[in-house]
Amino acid sequence: MEKTPSPSGKLWLVGAGPGDPDLLTLRAARLLASADLVVHDGLVGDDVLALIPPHVERISVAKQRSRHTMKQELINELLVRETLAGKQVVRLKGGDPFIFGRGGEELDAARKAGVSCEVVPGITAAMGCAAQAGLPLTHRDDASAVSFVAGQCKDLSEQDWSGLAGHGRTLVIYMGIATATAIADKLIADGVSPDLPVAVIERGTTADARVLRTLLTDLGDLVAREAVKSPALIIVGKVAVRADALDCLGAPGVAEKLGNFA
Ligand code: SAH
Repeated sequence: MEKTPSPSGKLWLVGAGPGDPDLLTLRAARLLASADLVVHDGLVGDDVLALIPPHVERISVAKQRSRHTMKQELINELLVRETLAGKQVVRLKGGDPFIFGRGGEELDAARKAGVSCEVVPGITAAMGCAAQAGLPLTHRDDASAVSFVAGQCKDLSEQDWSGLAGHGRTLVIYMGIATATAIADKLIADGVSPDLPVAVIERGTTADARVLRTLLTDLGDLVAREAVKSPALIIVGKVAVRADALDCLGAPGVAEKLGNFA
């Protein structure tokens, strides 16, 4: 269907939340209903895509396993081109656009091209997954600082996480499943206790979410044993003991040691 372009286009960088469509903001839902074009990632699930009316044009820029289907520069160009053509363009991204979502790069491109752009925050995976698991990321007794890190950008060994995990802290690792063993080794080498509790939350906020819990020393084995698949988060810290989770007893004494932390 040919659409008549609006006189002035606008780009919206919209967070789709972590999976459950009920976790979209009201603003995000309203924009999906009124957009001319929705450009979305692979992380945005079918339940959320079902909220887009059938007459709204959609483009998927999902990454494929072996390569990026559309390079970031091409996505930026597409967003700018379509908005300058007069469309109301919704760039729909999993979680929050500014947490490991490349929203910053898309905003830069829009600013550079003089395109009007607004950001609509979304519930990031850490918030959604922690809420579903009943795992408070901060707690007066356990953690007064929380950090979000990416487990798979650049070389892991180049990243300085010292001080981000351990006593009084919670560390949330995005994109860390493929490198879980290296992450555990890195943290332990940095002086974090191998007995620190860890929760792994797979497909958080969806009906088939899994919440698993073990000790840092067992993290890599747990991911392999349980065949944990992306998207999943790793949460390292004493608060992990509070999660409604399955204790994964693959390593001897895990249950007992987790009990000591409770
Ligand atoms: N912008 C997104 C993050 C994109 S990076 C956000 O704010 O949530 C992709 C990573 O997010 C995944 O590898 C995974 O670590 C995490 N993630 C996204 N959705 C998730 C979900 N439903 N359950 C668990 N982890 C999720």
